[in-house]
Amino acid sequence: MSGIYIHIPFCKQACHYCDFHFSTSLKKKDEMVLALANEIAMRKGEFEDDPEFSGVETIYFGGGTPSILEIDDLRLLIDTVYKHYKVVENPEITVEANPDDLSEERIIELSKNKVNRLSIGIQSFFEDDLKLMNRAHNSAEAKKSLEIATQYFDNISIDLIYGVPQMSNEKWLQNIETALSFNVPHISSYALTVEPKTALHTFIQKGIIPQPDDEVAQEHFHLLVDKLEENGFIHYELSNFGKENYFSKNNSSYWLGKKYIGIGPSAHSYNGISRSWNVSNNAQYLKSIAENQLPSETETLTQTDRYNEYVMTGLRTIWGISLDRIETEFGTGYLDYLNQQAAKYVEDHLLFVDENVLRTTKSGKFLSDGIASDLFLLNLE
Ligand code: SF4
Repeated sequence: MSGIYIHIPFCKQACHYCDFHFSTSLKKKDEMVLALANEIAMRKGEFEDDPEFSGVETIYFGGGTPSILEIDDLRLLIDTVYKHYKVVENPEITVEANPDDLSEERIIELSKNKVNRLSIGIQSFFEDDLKLMNRAHNSAEAKKSLEIATQYFDNISIDLIYGVPQMSNEKWLQNIETALSFNVPHISSYALTVEPKTALHTFIQKGIIPQPDDEVAQEHFHLLVDKLEENGFIHYELSNFGKENYFSKNNSSYWLGKKYIGIGPSAHSYNGISRSWNVSNNAQYLKSIAENQLPSETETLTQTDRYNEYVMTGLRTIWGISLDRIETEFGTGYLDYLNQQAAKYVEDHLLFVDENVLRTTKSGKFLSDGIASDLFLLNLE
């Protein structure tokens, strides 16, 4: 599986909790679209040189806010991929979209331009939550966008945030129920986290907004898992739930360690051996692409890096950590270390081994990142 991720680094306004790379000034939007198309063309050799490459299987527009682009911009970028790369038949093409951009006209345009999956940033159906997060949409727009989008798209994912200060369990359950009422086949849901240098961080420090409570977030997580599993969703990654055949192919390929090219400011790429990342600055990115230079830095992964990444993603997903793979790919030293570190969690029923695959139990799931870090090896290479 090979994919192309395209980062659209613009948003209408800054959500209070967000630390992604974006600009709220759209002055350079047209220039950026041309630069993104240039980078797509510049990097075509990266897949062509790979003997295992059989075609681009996923194209993902993330951000930022991709739905801020005109349909002609999106079409140009999709056409540029098709022009320079071999693309499989029926690739998954996802556009992240915010409800306030999703008029019926826009949704129809998207559906007619090869886009076959929408990922809609709902976050909450409640007005006070949306205000606290400083989202650009309101509750009515959240519902309206889903009413219309479900008429034209079958493959829709929505994002919801839990653990928001003052969100009761009842309110969180109502959010989930409302999401379910639209019959979408995929839900991504994350705990509100307080990132440094965000407005949310400042408000909490000044006492304007209370600190999110970990125990409340954990309760919300368990309510979410139970409710979605009751409704036929498969909990296939810590924060992702899909009906059968509706797992995100794009995200699954990251978690399964497949290769991808990331286009645009701040986008990351992975070629199986090294990771690279583009500069997180729109002006520097534009300048560099104009000079025909890739604005990226590269880091070659050590064997320990690859082991740690596999442990982290393995515990977060239903695919788990294959102990056979640990032994063949990393050696018996790594396997012995992993078994030794995992033993206490197996005893505490937070991890279990089935058919030589190590996975989290239901109660271990919410803690999987913390458990994974205890299974990591220090990088001494
Ligand atoms: S719309 Fe998305 S990327 Fe933009 S500020 Fe909000 S959360 Fe961040």
